[in-house]
Amino acid sequence: TVQKQLEDRLRELSATDGLTLLANRRSFDEALEREWHRATRHGEPVSLIMADIDHFKPYNDHYGHVAGDRCLQQVAAAIAAGVRRDGALVARYGGEELAVILPEVDAAGAGAVAARVVAAVAALQLPHPASEAAPFVTVSVGATGCVPRYQDGGIELIADADAALSQAKAKGCNRYEIKQG
Ligand code: GH3
Ligand code: MG
Ligand code: MG
Repeated sequence: TVQKQLEDRLRELSATDGLTLLANRRSFDEALEREWHRATRHGEPVSLIMADIDHFKPYNDHYGHVAGDRCLQQVAAAIAAGVRRDGALVARYGGEELAVILPEVDAAGAGAVAARVVAAVAALQLPHPASEAAPFVTVSVGATGCVPRYQDGGIELIADADAALSQAKAKGCNRYEIKQG
């Protein structure tokens, strides 16, 4: 029915980020909570990847915010294409930070996906003369995974992915680091 179609469309819009067309922060939060509980119940691993565009402020300063938006869209699409995992949720976590939830994947598996994400973005070869990391647009990625032991809804996973991401930035960007959760 028309009513049903409208409801579906509304649900889709409220779950999607308008710029990147990835899942938005709301869907990310819901999915992480859901997958964390599922992993806890089944004693299975769950992984999280956080990707952040390197030196994106200078990119905006150099090319302007319209070009910055276009860059973010292309990076988002490259990451989504690079993940290639059934059941993965690719989301815009916030700003120029993108996240991937990987159900039933351990930290080593998340590292393999992280490597593909870094390579997929570099392969775009989007010029970025203001970057200190490379002459083109790159991302740094933090990966973590664990079999959950507590019902804390995945907060630990975010902290660990974030710590790994900071480590990748500190080592010079355009790379990934893994933190075993
Ligand atoms: P780092 O390598 O440490 O990540 O440095 P950075 O410059 O990327 O990081 P910082 O957090 O200082 O700046 C993030 C920038 O991302 C600033 C903000 O203007 C830009 N940004 C965030 N969201 C958007 C967006 O939707 N569109 C555009 N064009 N820029 C955005
Ligand atoms: Mg950044
Ligand atoms: Mg950032």
